[in-house]
Amino acid sequence: MALGDIMQRVESALKKYRQEDDQVTLIAVSKMQPLNRIHGVLVEGQRVFGENYLQEALSKWPQLQEQFGKCVLHMIGPLQTNKAKQAVELFDVIHSLDRDSLAQKLANTAQSRGCCPDLFVQVNIGQEPQKAGISPENLDAFIAHCRLMDLPVIGLMCIPLQGKASTPYFQTLAKMAERNGLKGLSMGMSHDFEEAIKCGATHIRVGSAVFGERASKVML
Ligand SMILES: *Cc1c(COP(=O)(O)O)cnc(C)c1O
Repeated sequence: MALGDIMQRVESALKKYRQEDDQVTLIAVSKMQPLNRIHGVLVEGQRVFGENYLQEALSKWPQLQEQFGKCVLHMIGPLQTNKAKQAVELFDVIHSLDRDSLAQKLANTAQSRGCCPDLFVQVNIGQEPQKAGISPENLDAFIAHCRLMDLPVIGLMCIPLQGKASTPYFQTLAKMAERNGLKGLSMGMSHDFEEAIKCGATHIRVGSAVFGERASKVML
C-alpha cells in the first residue's frame, strides 16, 4: 500500500530539511474513500485520520473505532456553527476555526463539557473571496480573542491557491504562527507535503497519495 511509501518520503524530508528530533504528524485524509481502503490503512497501523464532512465522519468513525480501537480524528473541513457540538464530541482536533461565531460556540461547548479539542486557526492565505479561513489582516486580533476565551489554539492551517507554488504560502503561514507564539503548522497535502515539511509543517494532511483517488463528490 501507499502508506509505507508516504511514511518513507516523510522520513526522508524530515532528515533532509529539519533538525534531528523534529517530528511531523501524518494525517491520513479519508474523506470520500471506500471503507475497504480505510480498513487497509488501519491494518497497516495508521491511527491518525482527517475528515472534511461531519455527517460522513459520523457515519463511519464510531464503528471503525469500535473495530480497530481509538483513533485520533482531525476535522479539516469547514465547520458550521450549529454543528460545532457534534464535531467536538467526535473529533480530537479541529483545523477550521476561522470566525468569531464558531469560536464563541466552541468556547460555550468546551465550558459545558470541561474539555475542548485542540484547535488550528485556518487562514485564508491566498485571500480568495468565498474561501474559508480568516483573512490575514484579522488574524492576530482573532487569535488574541480566542486566547481570552481560553480556547486551546495550537497552530495555524492553510490551503494554498490551486495552481500556484505552495512554498511562499507555507513560509508566510510559518511567519504568522511565529509572531503569534504558535508552534503548530497544518500545511501540505498529497502534492506538496515535502515542501511543507521543508517550511516547518507539524501536521500534513495527505489523502489521495495514501488511499488513491477519491470517489467524486456526486456519490455522496
Ligand atoms: C481533501 C483535503 C486534503 C487532502 O487532499 P489530497 O490532495 O488528497 O492529499 C487536505 N486538506 C484539506 C483541507 C482537504 O480538504
